Amino acid sequence: MKIVLCIKQVPDTSDIQWTENNTIQRDGVESIINPSDCYAIETALKIKETVPNTTISVLTMGPPQAVEILKSAISVGADEAFLVSDRKFAAADTIATSRTLAAAIKTVVPDYDLIICGQFAIDGDTAQTGPSIAQNLDIPQITYVQKLVSCDEEKVVVEKEVEDGIEVLQAELPALLCVKSADELRRPLISGFENALKADIKVLSAENIGLDASEVGMKGSPTYVSKAFRPEQKCSGEIMLFEDCGKTIENLKQKISEYLK
Ligand code: FAD
Repeated sequence: MKIVLCIKQVPDTSDIQWTENNTIQRDGVESIINPSDCYAIETALKIKETVPNTTISVLTMGPPQAVEILKSAISVGADEAFLVSDRKFAAADTIATSRTLAAAIKTVVPDYDLIICGQFAIDGDTAQTGPSIAQNLDIPQITYVQKLVSCDEEKVVVEKEVEDGIEVLQAELPALLCVKSADELRRPLISGFENALKADIKVLSAENIGLDASEVGMKGSPTYVSKAFRPEQKCSGEIMLFEDCGKTIENLKQKISEYLK
């Protein structure tokens, strides 16, 4: 079976800073594989261990330095990797990003069975890219995947987190999963590092994936960030330690009546 993994390089910080053009400040910040994409990779590797003749192709859309995360994916067991990179892709919103990734998938792995994404990226954090890729390819999707139950050549069964519990869902393949959690990503073996060093990572331009400049990057993006700001903190919270039930309720009542005064 053929698995496609979409992974994203993100700044290694929860304190995202913005440039004056309202884009995310990436200069001078260490980069890592987006955390939920590590779960996506581990999920793909688990399937590869159980379904014979499985291959994993990894894609990222990003600048040249994003090749590092592709090498990391190869080092843990992915078979091939593609860097979707072109100056024309710059300033893409999520619509242009997912259109570009969908076109890249159709170009390099047209007979894919399963596409696996992370649930959300810690920088953009829209959680739109995976569902939008599925929409572009007209295939079923399951989001908020928290556990892989089983997978074979025909179907995938997963546990999906919902507000009041867990749903077990099955999708016929081809399908797309957005993975929120799974086992921690395994560490590479020495042979994995060797594979990563030897890997021939192909770069795909807009032309290579059959998209016109008007469909990608800023020109292909109907939305833009007009303003980015950190919401002002209006008041601070207070943690009340639970000592005994009666005492805590009394403390709380006192706080509320002081507030109401
Ligand atoms: P999510 O949708 O939260 O990611 C979910 C999953 O999708 C990830 O876990 C991963 O599996 C997959 N995924 C996401 N992005 C990629 C990727 N690039 N390659 C492979 N897989 C991926 N960015 C700029 O650099 N410059 C801009 O000018 C710019 N303008 C933007 C304007 C708007 C209005 C918006 C909404 C975003 C803009 N962005 C810009 C951010 C850019 O669109 C996002 O980085 C990208 O679309 C992914 O969205 P996200 O970070 O919310 O990922």
